[in-house]
Amino acid sequence: MNLFAQPESSKGSPPANPKEDEAITSIDLRHLFEDSPVAFYTCNREGYINFFNKAAVELWGRTPELGKDRWCGSTRIYSAEGKDIPLEECPMAKTVKYGKIFTNLEVIVERQDGTLRNVLVFPRPILDEKQNLIGAHNTIVDITEQHSGQIKQETLSAIVTSSDDAIISKDLQGKITSWNLGAERIFKYKEEEVIGKNITILIPEERRNEEDLILNNVKSGRRIDHFETVRRDKYGREIPISLTVSPVKDTKGKVVGASKVARDISDRLQGEQKQAVLSAIVESSDDAIISKTLNGSIMSWNAGAQRIFGYTEEEVIGKPVTILVPDDRLEEEKKILENIKQGKRINHIQTIRLHKNGRRIPISLTVSPIKDARGNIVGASKISRDISEQVRTQKEIEQYAENQQVLNSIGKSISENMDVQVILQKVTDATTRLTGADFGVFYYNTAKGTEEAFTFTISGATREAFVNFDLPRHPDIFRPTFEGEAIIRLDDIRQDPHYGKNLSLTGLPEGSPPIVSYLAVPVITTSGEVLGGLFFGHHKEGMFTKDHEEIVENIAVQAAISLDNTKLFERVKSLSAKKDEFIALASHELKTPLTTIKGYLQVLARKEKDQMSEHFINKSLYQVNKLNLLVEDLLHMSRIEAGQLEFNLEDFDLKQMLMGITETFGYSHKSHSLIHDLGDTPALVRGDKQRIEQAIYNLVNNAVKYSPKADKVYLKLEVNPEEVCVRIKDEGIGLSKEQQKKLFTRFYRAENTEGISGLGIGLYLTKQIIDRHSGTISVKSTLGEGSEFFFTLPKIKKNEKEKLEIKVMPET
Ligand code: ADP
Repeated sequence: MNLFAQPESSKGSPPANPKEDEAITSIDLRHLFEDSPVAFYTCNREGYINFFNKAAVELWGRTPELGKDRWCGSTRIYSAEGKDIPLEECPMAKTVKYGKIFTNLEVIVERQDGTLRNVLVFPRPILDEKQNLIGAHNTIVDITEQHSGQIKQETLSAIVTSSDDAIISKDLQGKITSWNLGAERIFKYKEEEVIGKNITILIPEERRNEEDLILNNVKSGRRIDHFETVRRDKYGREIPISLTVSPVKDTKGKVVGASKVARDISDRLQGEQKQAVLSAIVESSDDAIISKTLNGSIMSWNAGAQRIFGYTEEEVIGKPVTILVPDDRLEEEKKILENIKQGKRINHIQTIRLHKNGRRIPISLTVSPIKDARGNIVGASKISRDISEQVRTQKEIEQYAENQQVLNSIGKSISENMDVQVILQKVTDATTRLTGADFGVFYYNTAKGTEEAFTFTISGATREAFVNFDLPRHPDIFRPTFEGEAIIRLDDIRQDPHYGKNLSLTGLPEGSPPIVSYLAVPVITTSGEVLGGLFFGHHKEGMFTKDHEEIVENIAVQAAISLDNTKLFERVKSLSAKKDEFIALASHELKTPLTTIKGYLQVLARKEKDQMSEHFINKSLYQVNKLNLLVEDLLHMSRIEAGQLEFNLEDFDLKQMLMGITETFGYSHKSHSLIHDLGDTPALVRGDKQRIEQAIYNLVNNAVKYSPKADKVYLKLEVNPEEVCVRIKDEGIGLSKEQQKKLFTRFYRAENTEGISGLGIGLYLTKQIIDRHSGTISVKSTLGEGSEFFFTLPKIKKNEKEKLEIKVMPET
């Protein structure tokens, strides 16, 4: 190859300066450069390439055309920073044009295939003997390889610096030779604190031998991958790490040290620990913890699930969760899945699931969605708690509460009731209900003396079922009950020897269920008298329990007391009737002589002029009047009791009546004054004037009588739109709440009335009178402070034509 061949274009024409070419040729070093591994070329005075070697062709990736290519064999040149350099201004051009010398100048040349090479150029001028510039030569050193090596290096160190892992290198003696930011972050030492120190500062005492092992491995050129161990930071804290150690070799391949990459795995370990704790919890939980896919197939199954539902893990994994759901609850399961798909959680619903053996188990269910790392819902976790026990207890509590309620109400209603039949029926109904019996019968002994006579009440069966029944005392089985010996409770009466022999249940109608469970409780009074027996039957075995026995016994005791009371009550009622008869008779008999005495005294009073006699006669008249009032009260009372008190109705102004009372008050009561406020509105009412006056007198007299230490009583009249109200107030002994409740009953006198005479019928009569005028009477009182009695009567409104509703007793 003629490297110094003339460019085509200059062929035939003499060289621009034949002398120059000659000079170069004369140097004739061409053969020296031809095979040089370093790219070399020359340009003439005009910049045309007139020589190039093989290495240059290789570098440019093309063969330049002699006499045509100027300045450089590359078509494009860039500065080291990557800026375009026009060929006319390339270093070679500058050298040719201005004789400039460049050394070590880095540029980038683009090869024909477009790849780039980093090169150092050394263009130098070629001078002739007279020192004239006749061209230039250029040596180009390809440094692309070094360059990329450097980039690699820089990249590596950038990685090392920015790595989250600790990247440390050490020499074979264990001295730390490099330390990155990751190492600083994990071990808390700064680079300057550790460089040159021994790596053992990071190793806990008990793990020092670990380091020897590592070193031995490294020395023999082996690498250690992801070895989990513990290191210590600057403050002595132990850090779990995963360690990778690789040998560092010098250019000759000799191991000169080791690089360590340490990754802090505390988080991962914590995660793992958490995971372990969680699975331990799941495993040890008493609840069933099950996870399922969105399609409803079971993904996981804990020991609790096995315990509650009876299936082992292997039996259910992958199966549809519906194997646990009763048919009638499949809809519910669908709804749960729909909720889960929407990310909703379901809390503590009470439902039913199936055991492997088909048993229905009441459970409390909580279902939560399971999400993957990206937050997509991928399934559901279900926590089911077996609440059979709870449900049972709850039922027991409810049953207990119901029993208590029935017991209370039955206790109350039978103790308040004085009608034997009602008591018997209530007791029979309640006990039948509480024992859950098919039927219950209460045989009640109505016998007087030794003779036997029974009445009975039934619950849960018709009366006809029992009318043909044998007299209950005869069969042996009933005897212990009627003789009050004991409670009898049989799980199966058919197994009892007495049954076969003596008990005839043939009286029961056709088709009645057989009696199997049997309970009989005697009803005995506190004095030991057997009033009768309660009998219960059920068609199934073993239906009556000790609890039932106790409940019935309890009610039987109360029933006995009440039935005893009714007997007592009957006796009292007949005595009371006799007493009322006596009072009526006595007061009637007293009335006639009293009236006669009063008449004689009045005649005497008119005639008598002697002062002393007049005084005595007046005193006698006063006492006779008092006695007369008392007898009158008694008479009224017995008439009221017998429904014989008559009323004479008329319209009158209550205010006028009260004014009259205030005017005469002073004559009969010296100890007190009457403070009154009657207003100025008339108070028109309809009623029996005499009786109403009697009622007001009663209240006023009581106010005086029961305020012995006071000197005033108060009377007030209020006229309201619908009614009139009369208030009588005192500052006397007052009444307790308890006393107020009994105040208006016959013969009631409070305990604090010693020394104050009375019969306890005044308020009773007053209330009867007010009641029968469609009015109301009440009291407000504080013990020791005084009382206020007030009554109302309906007002007659102007223009009102219709008659007021007054209960008038028929005249006798
Ligand atoms: P008596 O006054 O004859 O005892 P009452 O029927 O008038 O009968 O009264 C019944 C009872 O009510 C009295 O015994 C007394 O205990 C109580 N009582 C009536 N009025 C008053 C009153 N103003 N202050 C305190 N207690 C009263």
